[in-house]
Amino acid sequence: MRPRSRPWTVLALALLVAATVTSSALPLAAGGHPASAAAPAGRDGGGPPRPEARDVVLAVHGGAGTALRREDTDARTEKAYRDGLADALRAGQRVLRRGGDSVAAVEAAVRVLEDNPLFNAGKGAVFNEDAGHELDASVMRGSDQAAGAVAGVRHVRNPVSAARLVMERTRHVLLAGEAADAFAARAGLVPVTQDYFWTQKRWDELMKAKQAGPAAAARDESVTGTVGAVAVDARRGLAAATSTGGTTGKMAGRVGDSPLVGAGTYARNGVVAASATGQGEVFIRGAAAATVSHLVEFGGRDVASAAYEVVVERLPKLGGKGGIIALDDHGTYAAPHSSEGMLHGYATKDGDIVTRIFPDE
Ligand code: ASP
Repeated sequence: MRPRSRPWTVLALALLVAATVTSSALPLAAGGHPASAAAPAGRDGGGPPRPEARDVVLAVHGGAGTALRREDTDARTEKAYRDGLADALRAGQRVLRRGGDSVAAVEAAVRVLEDNPLFNAGKGAVFNEDAGHELDASVMRGSDQAAGAVAGVRHVRNPVSAARLVMERTRHVLLAGEAADAFAARAGLVPVTQDYFWTQKRWDELMKAKQAGPAAAARDESVTGTVGAVAVDARRGLAAATSTGGTTGKMAGRVGDSPLVGAGTYARNGVVAASATGQGEVFIRGAAAATVSHLVEFGGRDVASAAYEVVVERLPKLGGKGGIIALDDHGTYAAPHSSEGMLHGYATKDGDIVTRIFPDE
């Protein structure tokens, strides 16, 4: 081999310097992917809100609130949350890889989170003021804006599946209370007793909330663990789903934003799929998820700036904090939150799985 001539060496050095500058401008986040939006609320250094990631096919959230803090989180807890989100993403990813549609993918992802006691949905749901569990869930299909939801169910292990059954097997959108439990059982979902949902952690939270009184409970922003998913399938069909036990110590009969189409969940093909978490009353009053969609569809906004405007600019003015995951059919994914933290993660079309549990990720 001929020795390299000097001009080639200079060129190689110049390329190396350029590559170093570029990679340090895009710091690697956990999971080894460029942190396209390191700022927790989705805005980097005061510029326009930027997407969290691109080429995303599926994303999930595990609730908004006070962040999990690195300094107080041991390695086991960190792993449990990351694994919980990643398991859900893998379940949805398997559906999409088999050619399943986005509705089946979000249902599969949310079911995994509902079965995980760490999250406030299904097993591990919070207690209401009567020390009972009342669960809410919804699902929406973007192709025809079909939707299904259940509110205040007490005996459904996977409320998101009941929501899907309402969408596919009834002429209604939302069933509530005992009749919704009965419908789910008739439709083939095996009922569970209330003690199925019990966890020590949620019991302790209720005791703490009772001691603190209702005013303090209303101000409490600890991570509540509501779950949700958004997905886009091979036909560019969008879907969104959300599931929750609601808020600790809520009044019996209280329904939050999660089962309400347009508040906690929304999907419209060619526009956006969105799932919310946060202070439900404000997300209802602000028609949160539908407003994100309308800003994109009628306001010509991109997904990141629409979601940011709703979550960080509009809802706090109504007195509520939280977050939204939003995905368009090009795979642009945004996850703005006005709360200190939001647990979430996403899967890309290349199969990478990324989880975000700390505010600095
Ligand atoms: N939005 C849920 C509710 O109000 C709670 C949450 O997301 O933390 O029921």
